[in-house]
Amino acid sequence: MPADRRLERQAALRAALAAEGLDALLVTHLPNIRYLTGFSGSAGLLVVAGDRTTLVTDFRYAMQGPAEAGGAADVEVDQKNVWDRLGKVLAGGPPGALGFEAQAVTVRDAERLSGLTRHRLVPTTELVERLRMVKSPEEVAAIRAAASLAQDALAEVLPTVRVGQTELEIGAGLEGALRRRGSEWHPFPTIVASGPRSALPHARTSARPVGRGEWLLLDFGAQVDGYCADLTRTVIVGGRADERQRAVHELVRTAQARAVEHVRAGMTGREADALAREVIAARGFGDAFGHSLGHGLGLEVHEAPRLAPTAEAALPPHAVVTVEPGVYLPGWGGVRLEDDVYLAPEGPERLSDGRTELVELV
Ligand code: ZN
Ligand code: ZN
Repeated sequence: MPADRRLERQAALRAALAAEGLDALLVTHLPNIRYLTGFSGSAGLLVVAGDRTTLVTDFRYAMQGPAEAGGAADVEVDQKNVWDRLGKVLAGGPPGALGFEAQAVTVRDAERLSGLTRHRLVPTTELVERLRMVKSPEEVAAIRAAASLAQDALAEVLPTVRVGQTELEIGAGLEGALRRRGSEWHPFPTIVASGPRSALPHARTSARPVGRGEWLLLDFGAQVDGYCADLTRTVIVGGRADERQRAVHELVRTAQARAVEHVRAGMTGREADALAREVIAARGFGDAFGHSLGHGLGLEVHEAPRLAPTAEAALPPHAVVTVEPGVYLPGWGGVRLEDDVYLAPEGPERLSDGRTELVELV
């Protein structure tokens, strides 16, 4: 049984609320609710007040709600309308400053909320997300397990890839292997992009058959205990790489290795991004690396912190981030290599295998 961190997390949140002058926070972003209470259902409203934490959910979660969140929150199940029940929960305490998650609440829900409470509503940004950046040993272990599962699934599928198979067929094989090995779900739509389509950083997996000597880019994830891993490998199918393919792959590999080795807690997201970007730009491919270097990983596959040219915030110790530079040349193809890295205080620790050498499936 892993350590139960839920009350500790709620205490840290209460300290953050006090610092913001808030009496309570309405948490509506589901990954945040899961982080604070363990509840993993799809319908929930959580109120974290000074001395009480209350989860409101509906009939579908009458059993799951208390089973998962019991011990960390009072669970109220409403048969009809969770918002009406929320109004009653809020009326039970003295009116004060109630924060809500501005990044997660729709305009409609904000209107609904202002109609059901006398609290003063205060928009907040990323109060829980800031806590989530700092991972406990159990969270790091779950991400490591997800990464290990993902790379095993890839190792199973790559030897079966043949010229003429479609991206969708290869994706189905990979997703099947991920599920069989215990991935709870695919944290994002699996990207399988072949030939010139590998130049599309967020390609949608298509019915295109992969040709001889072409790139095959696979960007895929796995989820263990709710925690996500995110990996990308780019390989050659049905032949040997030509000189240009070899050179571009080696460039991305060198850039990625430099960033994985030198990324540190305490540097800004911009400085981390530059570790890889400088290598790629020095060879004249700066414009071909059009996205940021990486993102945080946890209960969500894209979370704080960001590793990007515009990210001035320092990377906190104990964050888990991706390092994923790419070079994309329209009409020719692209190469991206992505690994997951834990920013331990004493230095970076790779959670995925870092097997980025050029693979030629002949
Ligand atoms: Zn990815
Ligand atoms: Zn990623």
